[in-house]
Amino acid sequence: MRIIGLIGGMSFESSAVYYRLINEMVRDRLGGLASAEVLMHSVNFEEIVTMQKAGRWDDAATRLGDAAHRLQTAGAECVLICTNTMHLIAPEVAARVSIPLIHIIDETAAALKAAGRVKPLLLATRYTMEHGFYTDRMARNGVSVMVPGTEDRTVTHDIIFNELCAGIVKEESRRKLMAIIERAKAEGADSVILGCTEICLILDPNALILPGFDTTAIHAQTAVDFALGGEKTSASQAA
Ligand code: GLU
Repeated sequence: MRIIGLIGGMSFESSAVYYRLINEMVRDRLGGLASAEVLMHSVNFEEIVTMQKAGRWDDAATRLGDAAHRLQTAGAECVLICTNTMHLIAPEVAARVSIPLIHIIDETAAALKAAGRVKPLLLATRYTMEHGFYTDRMARNGVSVMVPGTEDRTVTHDIIFNELCAGIVKEESRRKLMAIIERAKAEGADSVILGCTEICLILDPNALILPGFDTTAIHAQTAVDFALGGEKTSASQAA
């Protein structure tokens, strides 16, 4: 089994989901009490949020690049940045290591295309929805992303940072996100990207009016496929 390297803490609420999903997927594949070989470098999110607010993306790239380098030095055989937003500086982080960086946008685009979906609504932080790195990379992958209007972007961003990243899940906020999805469906969206790794805490991707694509689960699944190899092992088939 290859060792998975996670850059976590952004927020730790979603890193905990990654850790659980990765281990559950490995146990499902291998059976018994099998679990994943994982190294995590979990950062102080407050420091990262300060950099985001100030637009200090170069500092953030240095910080996460250092984390990736440390993971590789410690034995990680791949690295995941456990947040969509910080993929804004994924090229700089990837450049600091020689192990593969499993890219959340590419893997989500592959999942959308495999399901025949080409016009997804993107629910994410303001940075992810507005900076262009996400929609551009999706477009290069053949997926035309729909971004919510100004007011809906603010609502979504605030729910992520003021509530989900702080471990707060409100029914009222769930209804607001559902209403944004309804509006997007009326405007032609054919699916929804849960494009923030905390959104799975408030929305079940399988209980929406459009097919949901949970970036946390997709990213975790790709890491497990990398760790175990694409094919199921004979041990797992027997289990
Ligand atoms: N985890 C979130 C994401 O997937 C937001 C936290 C962050 O700003 O990194 O974008």
